[in-house]
Amino acid sequence: MNEKAEIPQQSRLNPPDLPVVATDGTGWTTVSASPAWWRAAGQDAAWTGVAEQIAALGEGSVRSALCRVTTATTGRPCRHNTAVHGPCPHHGPDHEAGRCGAATKSGAPCRWNLVVHGACPNHPESWESIVQAREQQERLAAAAREQEQRRLEEQLAEQYAETLLLPCSYCAASPGDRCISPGSGQVSAKLHTPRVKLRAHHADAAAAACTGCDAAVGELCRTSTGRPAVESHAPRRRAAELAVDTR
Ligand SMILES: [Zn+2]
Ligand SMILES: [Zn+2]
Ligand SMILES: [Zn+2]
Ligand SMILES: [Zn+2]
Repeated sequence: MNEKAEIPQQSRLNPPDLPVVATDGTGWTTVSASPAWWRAAGQDAAWTGVAEQIAALGEGSVRSALCRVTTATTGRPCRHNTAVHGPCPHHGPDHEAGRCGAATKSGAPCRWNLVVHGACPNHPESWESIVQAREQQERLAAAAREQEQRRLEEQLAEQYAETLLLPCSYCAASPGDRCISPGSGQVSAKLHTPRVKLRAHHADAAAAACTGCDAAVGELCRTSTGRPAVESHAPRRRAAELAVDTR
């Protein structure tokens, strides 16, 4: 894979000499130095200290987002950036899943990486299967989305039907009748907000008692003056939400 080389971080070691050390984020370092420095380094007793500095520089610059698995082809740590490009297709958790897998002459499954290189030149038929698997995945995802959409629509329809069973305090519609726009006298497409709130209040009341006003399960909340509250009290609403979540 063609990964764009990043400009290496450069730093200079301390004396005895001044080689240029580049780290690449994998723990490896590249040392660029004069022949004189290399010769001196080979004889200098301080070399072990310098080598330790180089190793520490490499380790200190490790970027955890890089794959860093030693690759079989180059013998160097892989520089695939998982933060930018996602899991490494060569060494990531799913890298074995995208192999060609067709039986080879030796009997071992073909290791051609379909995700990285596309269709296998020796076994084009294996590409078909990965394409089909992808299509199947997409179909399943689309079906799941559709099902979720239907579930939401059904839930809304159910809530509408439940709301319709209550009277509307805004337009005085009787239970079972749709709301009327007071201005035009026409049937309104939506049910009025106080009626919708009343349904939510009934649902909360059915799910939990209220610690705010001591209303029992099934009883609507009351205000401090004893009048019926429009909405359920906050603790009860939270308790009702929890009851729904853990159902
Ligand atoms: Zn990798
Ligand atoms: Zn193959
Ligand atoms: Zn109404
Ligand atoms: Zn209450």
